[in-house]
Amino acid sequence: MKAKILGGKDIAEDIKSEVSAEIGRLKDKFGFSPGLAVVRVGDDPASAVYVGNKVRSSQAVGIISEQYHLPGNVSHAELLELVKKLNSRDDIDGILVQLPLPDQIDDREILEAIDPEKDVDGFHPINVGRLSRGERVLVPCTPAGVIEILKRSGIEIAGKDAVIVGRSNIVGKPMAMLLLQENATVTICHSRTRNLPDVTTRADILVAAIGRAGFIRGEHIREGATVIDVGINNVSDAGVARELFSDDEIDKRLSAIEKRGFTLAGDVNQREAIEKAGNFTPVPGGVGLLTVAMLMKNTVEAAKMRRRVALEHKTY
Ligand code: NAP
Repeated sequence: MKAKILGGKDIAEDIKSEVSAEIGRLKDKFGFSPGLAVVRVGDDPASAVYVGNKVRSSQAVGIISEQYHLPGNVSHAELLELVKKLNSRDDIDGILVQLPLPDQIDDREILEAIDPEKDVDGFHPINVGRLSRGERVLVPCTPAGVIEILKRSGIEIAGKDAVIVGRSNIVGKPMAMLLLQENATVTICHSRTRNLPDVTTRADILVAAIGRAGFIRGEHIREGATVIDVGINNVSDAGVARELFSDDEIDKRLSAIEKRGFTLAGDVNQREAIEKAGNFTPVPGGVGLLTVAMLMKNTVEAAKMRRRVALEHKTY
């Protein structure tokens, strides 16, 4: 079997267009555009790229976005102060503090200091609790993007066996909650799961969120399953790349390694998955593209929820 590739690009563009249209309506009717503040600390190159993408994409859909770049040695108290200031501003609907944060900062305290109504990453314990109660409010962007890919690609979720490999707070656990809300029968696997292929081959929908390039192989995949690859890993070894990518793909990957020293690879061995799965999300070009689109969607949701009373009375 040759799997159907579920690309994220068109779906992400559709979501951004919908968000942009919604912002236009809010502006026409109530005279405001949602505001997003993105906070970055230090000079981690990957964070700089992610934050740049988030700010550019939000501006493109009509969100008013502000970027705060604090030095790597900023104190915990100063960062906390900024979060509190952003919480108190009425024109800011969403606050995102890009992780990872330097060691002197207590991530947990910072994330918990964000007003849950402005928590567009969906990491605040109140939003985590709401999600586990089955209330879909501000949901972590990456797993929310996976649900969009499944639904908009016409893949049925209700009644299906879904297996997630990975149990992190940002991907694995919220992914399980969302699939449960969609009435899948959900299993979560992790590093202590015994006989992993026995469990993963039960999956109609298999989600890999592990952080190890090509970890999920043909033996983990049931024939015809939908395989969603959340992983983003750098592969710099040409020999490893040859094991991971199909003949159609390998030349492009080898030239990326030659030019910039690495190519991106997911947690699924693409070469093997393509032969066994029914549907498959590529890396790059799959789930990753949805993450930013879902941040835009969350920002608009946050604005509508927080300003709801005023909107209902048309005082905006
Ligand atoms: P994480 O916090 O490191 O969690 C990895 C999970 O994988 C853990 O639950 C771990 O189990 C499990 N695991 C590790 N080795 C395993 C093994 N041998 N067998 C079974 N399970 C194993 O990672 P994360 O933050 O969830 O991210 C996962 C991947 O998604 C990474 O590649 C990351 O870059 C990517 N990601 C992508 C996006 C996007 O926008 N597309 C967003 C976020 C993350 P234990 O809990 O037992 O240790």
